[in-house]
Parts: sequence; structure tokens; C-alpha cells
Amino acid sequence: MADGEFEGYGGRYVPDPLQEPLEQLATAYDEVAGSEEFQAEFRDLLAEYAGRPTPLYYARNLSDRYGADIFLKREDLLHGGAHKINNCLGQALLAKRAGKERLIAETGAGQHGTATAMVGALLGLETEIYMGKKDVERQEMNVFRMRLMGASVNEVTRGGQGLADAVDAALEDFAENVDDTHYLVGSVVGPDPFPRMVRNFQSVIGEEAREQFRDRTGDLPDAAVACVGGGSNAIGLFHAFRDDDVDFYGAEGGGKGADSSKHAAPLAKGKDDVIHGMKTRVIDEDVEVHSVSAGLDYPGVGPEHAMFRAVGRCEYTGVTDEEALAAFRELSETEGIVPALESSHAVARAIRLAEEGDHETILVNLSGRGDKDMETAASKFDL
Ligand SMILES: *Cc1c(COP(=O)(O)O)cnc(C)c1O
Repeated sequence: MADGEFEGYGGRYVPDPLQEPLEQLATAYDEVAGSEEFQAEFRDLLAEYAGRPTPLYYARNLSDRYGADIFLKREDLLHGGAHKINNCLGQALLAKRAGKERLIAETGAGQHGTATAMVGALLGLETEIYMGKKDVERQEMNVFRMRLMGASVNEVTRGGQGLADAVDAALEDFAENVDDTHYLVGSVVGPDPFPRMVRNFQSVIGEEAREQFRDRTGDLPDAAVACVGGGSNAIGLFHAFRDDDVDFYGAEGGGKGADSSKHAAPLAKGKDDVIHGMKTRVIDEDVEVHSVSAGLDYPGVGPEHAMFRAVGRCEYTGVTDEEALAAFRELSETEGIVPALESSHAVARAIRLAEEGDHETILVNLSGRGDKDMETAASKFDL
């Protein structure tokens, strides 16, 4: 169990029928993922299919305006428009090597479901996506896109018909069909081995950025900033710098404000608890999980972030919907780059840091592009 422990956070809090499948997965991961053969295949697909390496871009106009050198790691330029493909490729390859024929995943807004459908098509694996009925109705085009790539979308009608119910349905499927099925978890959350496995698949972000930053400036950044939903793009950026003198900043979905009853900021404002098979930070009971960006709209967070918070390695702040929308517009106008609303939280945090003046160089993970957010943005801005 030591592998899945993050200073008391993490672990594997699941019912009996899931213990054995998870143990098998952990063993498969430990045996396969480190091999030179697996790594070579993973690297090839990241390059040829996903489009790595992504550029490190010096945001000259934004830097001029706010007085610090701001660099963007352009994960928005990946196939699918976000960092999610890094993890989906890794897990799907592992599943294939472990002899699985079927992928399942849950999705809320449809981003992770879409990325899973992509790799299912690529590797010829039967793919089934669980999605709450409410989300299916709201996200018609994403459902169509998943079906177009050959995935079946399973409408979940129990409970609140949302993401949490889709997770339950996917877990039940996994427990019943573990022999031929891999449950492709979308972030650094859930029971061991998911948090460390997804982190390792996403670590390519920081490894590339570290080298690119060095080549470009001869040094490392003073600060690294990323948005935190489940926490995978943030951990993916941070991991390569964890032993360096680089300050980490995590931007959570602050919603209507961390002191309001509507946010998604369990690190900035929450408590220790067990959720979805892990011990971590979760929002308080009287808080309704809410963020303007669907990708940050999650009541818990990856256990490694809970550890980073506890030991003071990273500072986590809730960035409000309003601040994120302002940054969304600011980056679009100054650089001609439209960020995902999730990533806009990181941009907002970086702008604030630049204004405060304590860091000369700031590295921001631009986790995704904003095309998917046009409707939301159009309803907020009168242009
Ligand atoms: C899904 C998503 C996120 C949130 O997930 P993490 O696991 O916290 O990275 C952030 N940005 C984008 C663009 C996303 O699609």
C-alpha cells in the first residue's frame, strides 16, 4: 500500500469486490509501464497522435502588461484540445497490453469521455461511456462526437442523473467485468493505483516544460501555476519541479467565492474526508459544488495535492468565476489565444502573481483551448 500513500492521504477505500481488480491493475502497471518497450510505444503515440512536444510560448504582450515574464505551456494545442489525451493514451496502452478488450469511463461535460473515445478508436478497444441523463441532454454535441468515434454512451438515470451517478455506474460495471474491462479514470483521483499512475502519464508536461524553459532562459521558473479540478494537469506540470526551488500555485474553481456556498475549492476551503475510494480534501456538506468551468466542478481533489497542501509545498487559492472569465478575455485579447475556462483560472492566478511582483518568471500550464466554451462566454460577454 505504501505506493498509494501520500502522507496519510490516498489509499484504496473501496468495497471488497473492487479490491482484487485494483490490485491486479496496480501489478500490471508496476510490471508493464516501466518497461522500455511500453515507454517507447507511449512516446511514439504522444508524438505522432497527440502532437507532442507542445510549445513553450513566451507571452510577450501579457508579460509587458503585468511586469513579469509569463510563459505558457501549450497543452491546448494537443489533439482533442487539452492535456487529457496524455493520460488516456497511457491507460489505454496499458489496458491493451494487459489483454483487456474494453474501456469504460465516466464523463460529466464530455471532455474525458471524448478523449477516451479517441483512444478507444485508435487502439481498437470497445468503449462505453457512462454519463448522467442530465449531462447527456446538456451536451448533445459531445455525445454525438463520442458516438461518431464508435463509443457507446450509456445514459445513467439513477439518483441525481449527474457525474456522481455516472461514477457509481462505471464502478459497478468495472467490478462485474474486470476480466476484459479497464476503467479509464480521468484525473489523479480515486483509489490506488490511479493517482500515481495518472500523475506519471501526465508528468510529460513538466518534463518537457522544464527542459524547454532551461533551453530558453538558462534557468528554471520562479513559479509554476496550474488550475486544479481533480488535479492531473497541475501534478503533471509540478512533478518535474518538485525538488527544485520553484514555487507552486494551484488555482481551484472558486465559483461565487471561497466564502460562498457555491465553489469547487476543497484545498483552499474544505475538510479531510473519504470520497471515490481515496482519502483527500473535499468541500463542506453545506457547499454546492460549482464552477463556471465543467472541468473544475468536482467536490474532491487528488490526494497528492492534499499532501502538497498539508506540507506547504503548494499554495492553493480559489479563483472565482468572474476572475476566470476576465482572464479568459484578457488572454484572448492580448495574445490571440483563447484558453479553456479551466485554464483561465490558472491565467488569472498568474496575472495576480505578476501584479504582486514577487516572481520574475512565471510558468503557466495552459491545459486546454476554449473552443468548447464559446457558448458560455457568449452568454457572459456583450461584444
Ligand atoms: C478536465 C480539464 C481540467 C481539469 O482536470 P485536472 O485533472 O484538474 O487537470 C483542466 N483543464 C482542462 C482544459 C480540462 O479539460
